[in-house]
Amino acid sequence: MSAPISNTIEYSKETTPTVVKSDQEWQKQLTTDEFYVLRQADTEPQYRGYTSFFESGIYECKGCNKPLYESGAKFKGCGWPSFDDCLPGAVLTRTDPDGRRVEIICSSCHSHLGHVFTGEGYTDKNTRHCVNSCCLVFKKKENE
Ligand SMILES: [Zn+2]
Repeated sequence: MSAPISNTIEYSKETTPTVVKSDQEWQKQLTTDEFYVLRQADTEPQYRGYTSFFESGIYECKGCNKPLYESGAKFKGCGWPSFDDCLPGAVLTRTDPDGRRVEIICSSCHSHLGHVFTGEGYTDKNTRHCVNSCCLVFKKKENE
């Protein structure tokens, strides 16, 4: 396996979720579209939600409200919100079953977030977390 990508942790059998819910509980909490993306690793259409949103704050997991990304790491990448790093340990990586892409999931509830790509040269960190908007909840920074 490759080296971990900056602040991410590589998924393993030991990285058990701290937030565990049944599919029924997830379906109650999430909309149908969100359920497909977060719990079944679907991908939302491009240019939704936070793609072109650049206010200062924190992006939390829609599944469990764990803080995942800071607005300072966000950049104009592709049709989905792009970040060049996550908060330390907030995101786990695992290779897709077809071995081609690296999936990113929330370290607390293991909900699907998107994929991570390296070597594209967008920023100095050379990393792009390509995240579905519907997996994120933006929280504005207070009194700054
Ligand atoms: Zn989560």
